[in-house]
Amino acid sequence: MQSAHFSDLKNKRVLITGSTMGIGLAAAKAFAAQGAKVGLNGRRAPEELDGLLTGLRANGGDAAFFAADLSDSAACDKLVADFVARFGGIDVLINNAGGLVARKPLPDIDDAFFDAVHDLNMRSVLMTTRAALPHLSASAKASGQSSAVISVGSIAGHTGGGPGASLYGAAKAWLHNIHKNWVDYHTDDGIRFNIVSPGTVDTAFHADKTEEVRQRISAGIPMGRFGKAEEMAPAFLFFASHACSGYITGQILDVNGGQFMP
Ligand code: NAD
Repeated sequence: MQSAHFSDLKNKRVLITGSTMGIGLAAAKAFAAQGAKVGLNGRRAPEELDGLLTGLRANGGDAAFFAADLSDSAACDKLVADFVARFGGIDVLINNAGGLVARKPLPDIDDAFFDAVHDLNMRSVLMTTRAALPHLSASAKASGQSSAVISVGSIAGHTGGGPGASLYGAAKAWLHNIHKNWVDYHTDDGIRFNIVSPGTVDTAFHADKTEEVRQRISAGIPMGRFGKAEEMAPAFLFFASHACSGYITGQILDVNGGQFMP
């Protein structure tokens, strides 16, 4: 795939949560291709970590991995502190870690499941953004350009989610909404807040689906197929680049092959 050119992303310090695979990893590779300094995160280091980091450094940027389970507030704080210790600040935060945890219909939802979905999809974003805020603000002051928070929403945040995904869908809608408040009260800090909202993207997220279900979902997408993780990446580059989106904040960019049109 041909990569777009966002030359102001060179040497930008970009922390991407949940980036050991899927959409987060594809975004990390896209930023690295622009010569950015990329922080990878996951609960555990991916296999072949050294080779992955070497590849991410190949375009003159830098890369490091930070293990952290972001369902835990203290881990969110530590991730940001570790990233800042390594790279000296943060210019772009991408809140990508998230997921279904499991599919449970309403009668099966208990307190533990409620907490797990909210911790992974809401607490992680809230606490990581809280910890990153002073660093993003300092970046904007020093550079005279906006810094960026980009969170990964979901088509489920618009539609309510598929079977057993009510809490997940509601958590993504919460994310879509809390960004609006951050725009109102933190634009003065020099930070832009935008959301990339994927449709159905071919990652481990859909590992539970049979071929028949995949075909049924594909038939409901005007483009007739699942999206690829790499096809989400340019949307992150666009929102991260002050040159491309310096006057854009508080928006949701739906990247979904036409599956849902708000
Ligand atoms: P994925 O399962 O391939 O990747 C999830 C990533 O999050 C992995 O890197 C994993 O290590 C990390 N992660 C999981 N739990 C974590 C935790 N507690 N702490 C830190 N990292 C953790 O899934 P994906 O499809 O790439 O999903 C990425 C984001 O996109 C999620 O927020 C997901 O909700 C969202 N999304 C995905 C789709 C889709 O169709 N795939 C659609 C809409 C939204």
